[in-house]
Amino acid sequence: MQNRSGITLSPGVVPNLKDYEVFRHSFTWQDEQKFLDGLPEQKGFNIAYEALERHAKGKLKDTVALRWILKDKTFKDFTYYDIHKLSSRFANVLTSLGIKKGERVFALTGRIPELYIAALGTLKKTAVFCPLFSVFGPEPIFQRLSKGDAKVLVTTKELFEKKVKQLLDRLPMLQFILLTDEELHVNDKVLSLPRLLEEAYDEFFIPPTDPEDPALLHFTSGTTGIPKGALHVHGAVLMHYITGKYVLDFHEGDIFWCTADPGWVTGTSYGIIAPLVNGITNVVDAEEFDAVRWYSILEDQKVNVWYTAPTAIRRLMRMDIQPKEKYNLEHLRLICSVGEPLHAEAVLWGEKTFGMPILDNWWQTETGGIMIANYLSMKVKPGSMGKPLPGVEAAIAEVTDTEIEIITEPNKQGHLILKKGWPSMFRSYLHDEERYKKSFRGDWYLTGDLAKKDKDGYYWFVGRADDIIKSSGHMVGPFEVENIVMEHPAVAEAAVIGKPEPIIGELVKAFIVLKKGFTADEKMQLDIIGYARKKLGAAVAPKEIAFVNELPKTKSGKILRRLLKARELGLPEGDISTLEQTP
Ligand code: ATP
Ligand code: MG
Repeated sequence: MQNRSGITLSPGVVPNLKDYEVFRHSFTWQDEQKFLDGLPEQKGFNIAYEALERHAKGKLKDTVALRWILKDKTFKDFTYYDIHKLSSRFANVLTSLGIKKGERVFALTGRIPELYIAALGTLKKTAVFCPLFSVFGPEPIFQRLSKGDAKVLVTTKELFEKKVKQLLDRLPMLQFILLTDEELHVNDKVLSLPRLLEEAYDEFFIPPTDPEDPALLHFTSGTTGIPKGALHVHGAVLMHYITGKYVLDFHEGDIFWCTADPGWVTGTSYGIIAPLVNGITNVVDAEEFDAVRWYSILEDQKVNVWYTAPTAIRRLMRMDIQPKEKYNLEHLRLICSVGEPLHAEAVLWGEKTFGMPILDNWWQTETGGIMIANYLSMKVKPGSMGKPLPGVEAAIAEVTDTEIEIITEPNKQGHLILKKGWPSMFRSYLHDEERYKKSFRGDWYLTGDLAKKDKDGYYWFVGRADDIIKSSGHMVGPFEVENIVMEHPAVAEAAVIGKPEPIIGELVKAFIVLKKGFTADEKMQLDIIGYARKKLGAAVAPKEIAFVNELPKTKSGKILRRLLKARELGLPEGDISTLEQTP
């Protein structure tokens, strides 16, 4: 069986659309579970065992698990065996510090090897790992450490001095700070991680781990309000494995690059776990976005599968680089995107630029893994999120305070809901049981997103329920409008909000970043409005346009429409702990 790139598919990989449908309905988690070994002396799963130990003790022992790219683009390799040993040392360090099952270990570092070692070591120990973005300021760090009852924090000297030291008085439960780049212990509380690792034994016995044991704590992006702490369990590894295999099309020998930081769920589920569980090589670049650097990493590392986000794709689209002319990208066979809607324009740009469409997929911090996706085997409808993964049941529904009614009519907008029970479903919002309960109605999880399903079963993102605009009796999703505005040749990025207006309810306003070489003037405004009107009709097209240099975004790259709205209306900005500071 071959996919479009001529690569032979491993058994079970979805071969074509028709079979995909059959396969989707005959799928069982139990069957898939057989591909994982489970811990030898017990039933159940431990993420780190599946990701590391079984490979390190098998034929992948000397395969590169983690390739860490340095600033000068040279790299350092860690085999499965290396990471296995180092993470066992880390687990032993936690034992020596008295850390117990379920207690929280946080990391606040850049994408350095210690972060990956700490994550996997914590999972071996059955403590709970919580990675934070190193760019957070002291207050967001404090909020997360205290909400998450952090016992241990892994960080660097610089981040400790600049951001953490000042918080210590307010964090009495934080017992140890492990500095990744300090050779000597500072005091009883602030310790040298290299020294502890050196002294620790490199064999660790993974204790019995139930699939329901907590494993990871992730804070949401804070796009719609105060970030929530979503708790995930070890059983989630089944989802990481399956989505790696089916959506990201991982095959033996593959080189994979996920550009997300582990401070965001994508950077953990797919930047750490999924590639390792599938036994392939995971590339990690510690630097921030840089178009030329990124294209050369794709070339130099012979990346086969690349997982990135719309914000990065839009930035690449703004550049005048034809990567295929300048770089040898013959190894690249799949590009996937997540985090925000991927505009149809971007999908087509991928086709033109790389010779393959960029495949969009949808999921959330709460879902722990990819839920809806465009597969290699499917006809891609640009602008659609694709179809639910085998074993995942999605639906569109009317939702009231107490009930849900599933909408079967195609193309009708409603709430996107998911049937409970996929392995990586979050098991709680930390210290917010009420909110957790409220996100379910019976057997269904309410995602908070609005979408449509077409007659072929493809899902189309409409917007977040919170962002929906009510204009002249129409319900308009920002994405629908942005998608059209983005088609205009001068537009690089767009964000649409509803601005209260006495007669029509809300007026559609678009904030637009222009591509280089275009002038932000009244003529341009009229031109874009005219274009949108032609495509969308006057009721839904933007009535106001503001040109801006940058859109406010979260650190995971999502446009913060609520902030644009608050600023527009002169209201308080709300929680902006995850706001990316633009230069
Ligand atoms: P918060 O819940 O704190 O407001 P957030 O929802 O942005 O933040 P994440 O869990 O990181 O936090 O993001 C998930 C959300 O991102 C989804 O609910 C959806 O709104 C959006 N999203 C992710 N992928 C896609 C996609 N492919 N298409 C459209 N939207 C997407
Ligand atoms: Mg959310």
